[in-house]
Amino acid sequence: MLEIQGIRVENGTKKEVYIGPSGYPMPAFLIAGREEGKTLLVTAQIHSGEYPGTPAVIRIGKNIDPVNVFGNVILMPCVNLSGFQSGYNAKIPEDNGNLNTDYPYAGKPVTDSISSFFIKEVFPKTDFILDLHSGGISEPLTPCLFYPSLSATEESLTVAKKLDIPWLVASENKKGQFSYPAHVMNIPGLLLERGYGGLCDEAWIHAFENDIRLAMDALGILSCEQCETCRKEMIRSVCYLRFKEDGLWYRKAEPGEEIAKGQVLGHTEDCFGNVLREYTAEEDGIVLYGNGGLKASKGHLAVAYGRNAYRQVLL
Ligand SMILES: [Zn+2]
Repeated sequence: MLEIQGIRVENGTKKEVYIGPSGYPMPAFLIAGREEGKTLLVTAQIHSGEYPGTPAVIRIGKNIDPVNVFGNVILMPCVNLSGFQSGYNAKIPEDNGNLNTDYPYAGKPVTDSISSFFIKEVFPKTDFILDLHSGGISEPLTPCLFYPSLSATEESLTVAKKLDIPWLVASENKKGQFSYPAHVMNIPGLLLERGYGGLCDEAWIHAFENDIRLAMDALGILSCEQCETCRKEMIRSVCYLRFKEDGLWYRKAEPGEEIAKGQVLGHTEDCFGNVLREYTAEEDGIVLYGNGGLKASKGHLAVAYGRNAYRQVLL
């Protein structure tokens, strides 16, 4: 039996409901397996505009038969519903809150009510969290995932190693939808990244759907027929190269590209075409994501690359 906010779901059944804090209902599939087992929470669009996770979660919610499930699955296809409906990019439009950096409290009333809802009502009933993201409008990326590196690490990596995502990146974040419960409440979880650009390609949706199924299999919730997954590497340290000035950005390295120390990753220009600065790799690495647009803003990310000295192939 699964119960969230007084909504009871009997074993072997599922419900499509809205849950959330007062004044902020969010859609959820609540699935109670016929047999006992672990409880998985899957969230999508805590950042509105990161679309591919949403249809993937909906498809799982529609297609899963609770009779075959061991444990429970809580599927929330669109957490930042007001951001999605208004076209607001990533953050909660009511107060500009960011659910990946504002846990548990940020002095932002709507954002805080959502984080408090998860902390009090959902996380305590959860054994594992999958939080589905994509790169932003101007942020191409190669599929990767973030695991909590300070606590709940081994349990998180056990599932990460069973997914079909090549890059497993360490995160010390303590203020995000998956990282607060991992690092503060010791609940394992992963943040998955696929797709970018405000697009919703079928291949990304399908890959996310596959990730959820592989995670359910790894947790003993529902067996998955696919066994073959990609080669994987752990990346324990990432270099975040940031812009030192405003300007126009011309990148020269793609996500997924191996780079060498000293290699030019891009340059900035002014509006007259004069070069302002070249940005070079400080060490050998693998490009994960970065700014694929034109606008360079001082202090914002240009390129994120995994440092080769902190890479480890998983066998
Ligand atoms: Zn995101």
